[in-house]
Amino acid sequence: MSNSSSKTQLPHVALFPSSGLGHLIVFVRLAASLVKQKFQVTLITGYPLVSDAESKFLAHFLSAFPQVISKDFHLLPHDPSTAKSDSYKDPFFLQFEAIRRSSPLLSPLLSSLSPPLSAFISDIFLSSTFIPITAHLHLPNYILFPSCANMLSLAAYFPSLVNITEEINIPEEINIPGLSTKISKSWIPPLILDVTHPFAIQFLENGKKLVECNGILMNTFDSLETETLKALNEGKVINGFPPVIPIGPVLPCEFEKQVSSFTWLDDQPDGSVVYICFGSRTALSREQLRELGDGLVKSECRFLWILKDKKVDKEDVAEIDEVLGKGFVESVKDKGLVIKGWVDQGGILSHRAVGGFVSHAGWNSVTEAIWHGVPILAWPQGGDQKMCAAVVRRFGLGLWVDSWDWNGGELVKGEDIGKAIKELMGDENLKLQVTNTKEEARKAVADGGSSQNNLLKLRKELEICI
Ligand code: UDP
Ligand code: UDP
Repeated sequence: MSNSSSKTQLPHVALFPSSGLGHLIVFVRLAASLVKQKFQVTLITGYPLVSDAESKFLAHFLSAFPQVISKDFHLLPHDPSTAKSDSYKDPFFLQFEAIRRSSPLLSPLLSSLSPPLSAFISDIFLSSTFIPITAHLHLPNYILFPSCANMLSLAAYFPSLVNITEEINIPEEINIPGLSTKISKSWIPPLILDVTHPFAIQFLENGKKLVECNGILMNTFDSLETETLKALNEGKVINGFPPVIPIGPVLPCEFEKQVSSFTWLDDQPDGSVVYICFGSRTALSREQLRELGDGLVKSECRFLWILKDKKVDKEDVAEIDEVLGKGFVESVKDKGLVIKGWVDQGGILSHRAVGGFVSHAGWNSVTEAIWHGVPILAWPQGGDQKMCAAVVRRFGLGLWVDSWDWNGGELVKGEDIGKAIKELMGDENLKLQVTNTKEEARKAVADGGSSQNNLLKLRKELEICI
């Protein structure tokens, strides 16, 4: 309670996402909800950003939220051997490294912010580098974990697997303490299994450092991943683990809506269209894209397909005909629409005509599908996506054919894709279950809901009286 001799100052938090739109989106949405909760927010981003999608998204956000202070974190030039190394051929991964390499610049930047910071919220990808810096500044450090609690349990437990044997020796099935379901070795992000890869080294280091942060914010909610959240918070997974704070689903902002009309969707019957999109940075091979096209035809469903042919959008310049073969678009025009470019995914998922979502199971996409009550056919392509797909399947939010290989592995045939889509679109139980989960999600962020309460509690903790 403030009195005449003291006044309450808005808690000032700085947010620092790593690279890739999937990370920026969740940080920006959190920033927007912190502004709503009367936090003062500074958003720090690595400069230059990798993709056009990130630059445009950031610019839109900053013009919609002029009260947010934006700081460019000017990256030092890459170490020439890193830039040339095969391990860093993914430009988003190279960017993580550039941010880490530039980390000596962080302390002066954080110290220069005014009013002084109450907390720093950064990305799991950067935690082993940033936690020692914030500890030195005596600044509370929260991690925003951009994936599901299932993945967090793995990130937290992974170092124990390594410590036991002094080498990474992963059993076929991992039994994480406190969890009733096992994690299959085949779900683990492939790069982690290559012990020499910098991603595996970072994953281990970041996992170890997690215990030193003040709390881990999660884009999930209590009634979705209940058991995992409880096990983490009761210290069953790792003794002395910091508070895991579900604050999701972190909602899309108004500015994300595109002023596009959905004329084509408007003409389709309710629940008849399957929407296909693999997030912001996943491109299937041309051969796999053509099998997917064949699968869509074989499914006999109407479809809206967002086609991505290159990982980084700036390079995605080929015409649709060149990617899918001349004549494909024309041959499906009564049933399907293929779009190349950025779409308003929230707008599509909320459209009454959309009845299913073929997704790589990126966690943002999963939470958005839940928010709009759309069943998912999870087709994980890399990273944490099989861990997210396992959540989709476990809680009846969609289907996952777990024999389908990662991106770049064995080709998935059109016939199998067609069958899976047909099953997705015809499964009434899935629709029912995902509608129930949608209601739960909405309760979690409404006044008095679990995620909303967690955010209010965080604010109280960070409130400072001067
Ligand atoms: N997205 C979008 N339009 C597109 C492609 C993606 O709005 O054309 C958004 C999508 O709604 C989600 C994010 O980009 O919020 C992708 O995040 P996700 O975690 O699903 O996957 P990632 O891109 O990180 O692999
Ligand atoms: N992750 C982690 N520790 C790390 C790096 C990543 O726990 O040091 C998790 C995080 O949840 C991330 C996921 O692993 O989302 C998969 O990483 P990926 O390479 O797929 O990156 P993303 O698609 O999230 O950019």
